[in-house]
Amino acid sequence: MARIALTDLPTSTWTNWVGNQSFSPAFAATPRDEEEVAALVRQAAERGVGVRVAGAGHSFTPVVETDGVLLDLRALSGVVDTDSETKRATALAATRIHDFYEPLWKAGLALRNQGDIDTQQIAGAVATGTHGSGTRYTSLSGVVRGVRLVTATGELRDIDDSDPDLLHAAQVAVGMLGVITRLELEVTDAYRLREQVDLRSWEEVMENWDELVSQHRHFGFFWLPTEQSAALYNLDGHGERLADRCYVKVYDEVGPDVADDDTEGRRVDRCYRIFPMVYDPNFHELEYFVALERAPEALHAVRELMLASLPDSVYPLEVRTVGADEAFLSPQYKTATAVISVSGKPGTDYWSYLRSVDALLADFGARVHWGKLHFLTPERLHKNYPRADDFIALRRELDPEGVFLNNHLRPLFA
Ligand SMILES: Cc1cc2nc3c(=O)[nH]c(=O)nc-3n(C[C@H](O)[C@H](O)[C@H](O)COP(=O)(O)OP(=O)(O)OC[C@H]3O[C@@H](n4cnc5c(N)ncnc54)[C@H](O)[C@@H]3O)c2cc1C
Repeated sequence: MARIALTDLPTSTWTNWVGNQSFSPAFAATPRDEEEVAALVRQAAERGVGVRVAGAGHSFTPVVETDGVLLDLRALSGVVDTDSETKRATALAATRIHDFYEPLWKAGLALRNQGDIDTQQIAGAVATGTHGSGTRYTSLSGVVRGVRLVTATGELRDIDDSDPDLLHAAQVAVGMLGVITRLELEVTDAYRLREQVDLRSWEEVMENWDELVSQHRHFGFFWLPTEQSAALYNLDGHGERLADRCYVKVYDEVGPDVADDDTEGRRVDRCYRIFPMVYDPNFHELEYFVALERAPEALHAVRELMLASLPDSVYPLEVRTVGADEAFLSPQYKTATAVISVSGKPGTDYWSYLRSVDALLADFGARVHWGKLHFLTPERLHKNYPRADDFIALRRELDPEGVFLNNHLRPLFA
């Protein structure tokens, strides 16, 4: 017997963190447990109404939007199991990334990799393939070993490596296979990192690209087109000249004998204290991925384009790498990639600049970040994602009526 009825639910206006996506669903619900999630999905499917889940709202794309039921899973939060032998951790869908830290560390464990922020919910981060840097490590999606879904019929379904295709479809699904209620992740032994941050010329970074990529656990950099660029991402230039220079970040693992250090740019600490950065919601980001071997060529071309596009291209160019995985919609499907991110300034018309970056990187067979601005067409989806058809077939099998599609995703995945 359902304890929650769709018809009793209020509506509300939802806005994402940066404020570029806003909509009013017909019904907004905060289910208290999996059973209530299942009951709501069943009722929505019976009435022919769509369902989407809001995570922490840190995507720039309309991936949350719905005119049907919007679910807020905040009640389904927390790390529920850790296993130091098998190196696995199980968490409920709305667990924020920073909520993994203490329970994992206490069990002698840590996330294998992390991105630039830690406020996302784990299901939201996984749904879009959220990644950090380092070719030896995958995105968060790549370490998902189990998923519990409420499917379009309102049934609970546990997915694991006994059905590898379904697992690889569920690892990056942008909410299209159903509502994730819990996830099992492969984690690793707790580790500490040394951060090294320095300013280098573009030429120096490019000449040492192979060494920087291969010799460090994590390597990434921000190229700063102008003197003002660093401040837009809260990067501390330490009073140095910044225009046309690279703010390079390298993180390497250190043993327990190395003392903690809190000197900015040379910190040594628990991994989860080193990874996160601080951003203001003052940028709208596009992020594309190119095969690692084409990275230097693509990066040179983007820098030239950015210099020609100033002042629209005043935000830093962020460059990272990510290791290969098997998820059907992952930018890293069977290939390590370089990650190329650029941003437009809210309140300005940055679209022609972002479209030029898109056109340039389309020639490199770029794949997109599902949570960041992109211009992917069905043609490019099928050309650049070898398992797109397999994903769509599984999506249709699990959700033939398209309960979990929305206006943004339907043209690509119906
Ligand atoms: C300041 C900033 C820094 C960022 N840094 C990085 C970075 O370093 N690396 C990177 O890769 N990305 C980064 N991102 C992007 C971000 O990680 C992704 O957009 C991520 O999806 C956001 O997670 P969220 O919890 O906010 O999910 P949301 O944006 O709320 O949702 C994302 C998608 O997941 C779906 N979803 C959420 N929960 C569920 C569920 N339980 N079941 C089914 N579907 C669900 C939603 O419907 C939506 O389709 C950054 C974004 C910002 C704003």
